[in-house]
Amino acid sequence: MSNRDPATIVSQLADIVERRGGESYLGESVTMREHMLQAAQLAVDAGASDEVVAAALLHDIGHYSGDFPEDALEQGTDNFHQDAGARILSPHFPPLVVECVRQHVAAKRYLCATDDRYHGELSGPSVQSLKLQGGPMSRDEANHFAKRDNLAEIVAVRRFDDEAKVAGRVTSPFDAYRPMLESLVAKHYRATQ
Ligand code: FE
Repeated sequence: MSNRDPATIVSQLADIVERRGGESYLGESVTMREHMLQAAQLAVDAGASDEVVAAALLHDIGHYSGDFPEDALEQGTDNFHQDAGARILSPHFPPLVVECVRQHVAAKRYLCATDDRYHGELSGPSVQSLKLQGGPMSRDEANHFAKRDNLAEIVAVRRFDDEAKVAGRVTSPFDAYRPMLESLVAKHYRATQ
């Protein structure tokens, strides 16, 4: 890999949030930046691990896959932002972070199938996108999904995502997460040398 300085990818992520974060979040009443930062804040407030906080913060980064030069080949062909996000993050972040991002849409489909109250608490845009994403899982799909490693972390990130849509909520800025993100990236680079 050409560049193994953790600051490089973290700065790239910060730059995207800076440039694109003011865009609205898919019809919700928060911007993308507010949504990301609220999801991360909820994870911090819940005492979640660094991996889960990072996944909450970065779960929607795949919406900006076209901003990553190395991902440009996929541009225009991929509407699956969970897969795009996992692809962007996987060279740099530990597998748990990547899995929580990759599975955050499946986790919505899983929770719709297994938690009676969950569907009723989803936002309007999230109910809309559920249809495009395949609707609630079948019982078989849900039983299979429930056996995943890291189900608890995957579901936690999904719930932070769902709750991170409150206009005007105060959060820490992206920069507050940079040291933690850089240390996760450094850990992953060491593990994959
Ligand atoms: Fe989200």
